Amino acid sequence: MTRVVVSGAAGRMGETVCAAVDAAGDMELAGRADPALGNSLEQLLGDADVVVDFTTPEAAAGNVLACVAAGVHAVVGTTGFELDRLRGAVQRARSGDAKVLVAPNFAIGAVLMMKLAAEAARQLPECEIIELHRAGKLDAPSGTAQRTAKLIREAGGNVHEPIHSVRLPGLVAHQEVILGGEGEALTIRHDSFDRRSFMPGVLLAVRRVGALPDPFTVGLEQLL
Ligand code: NAP
Repeated sequence: MTRVVVSGAAGRMGETVCAAVDAAGDMELAGRADPALGNSLEQLLGDADVVVDFTTPEAAAGNVLACVAAGVHAVVGTTGFELDRLRGAVQRARSGDAKVLVAPNFAIGAVLMMKLAAEAARQLPECEIIELHRAGKLDAPSGTAQRTAKLIREAGGNVHEPIHSVRLPGLVAHQEVILGGEGEALTIRHDSFDRRSFMPGVLLAVRRVGALPDPFTVGLEQLL
């Protein structure tokens, strides 16, 4: 049994992760960390093999460093914080064989959307990204949109700025990549209608994070 502590457990994603871990036959929900529950992640690290973090841009990096310093693997879904700085800090803080996987989007369809968009940009390089999320999301553009732009640019595409961010009640997580050519356009769209869409990816990451070759890995596609 893998002992999982969920960080941000009282939040929208955290509650969904707790339910998914509870329902998984090979995992034990070992703790729920959240200021709203009156505890801190540090208090629960002794009970964890893996921490899943869905918190805030301000809290996530510190939580990851606390995990790796305690020799605990971290699976991170929180978006809106600087990943390059964290990569270096993880190397310095790491104790034992602790590994970190950060994924801006754990939905399998979203990973495919990013991969297909990068592939399409090899032939249709001019493109725009529109991301649509719930009102009140803290970061813009979304981590998924930034990751998509990076993958498209690495493939030779030209992502026009700005990336468009729509925030409305009723939305969960949605993104369109529109690629334009001579007399044609290709639209690649992904919709998460429910937070359960992220759970197969989160559980896969919990199962596999410890076996990753590198201490710090970005993107669920590394596991697919
Ligand atoms: P949310 O409902 O605001 O939940 C965040 C929770 O984290 C809150 O309960 C918050 O408590 C708590 N928290 C704050 N600081 C903490 C700390 N130091 N330790 C432990 N818990 C702490 O937000 P959400 O909608 O669940 O989203 C969480 C994050 O996941 C966001 O960054 C979002 O963009 C991201 N996300 C990622 C994916 C993906 O697939 N990667 C999918 C959806 C969302 P307080 O309210 O008391 O501050």
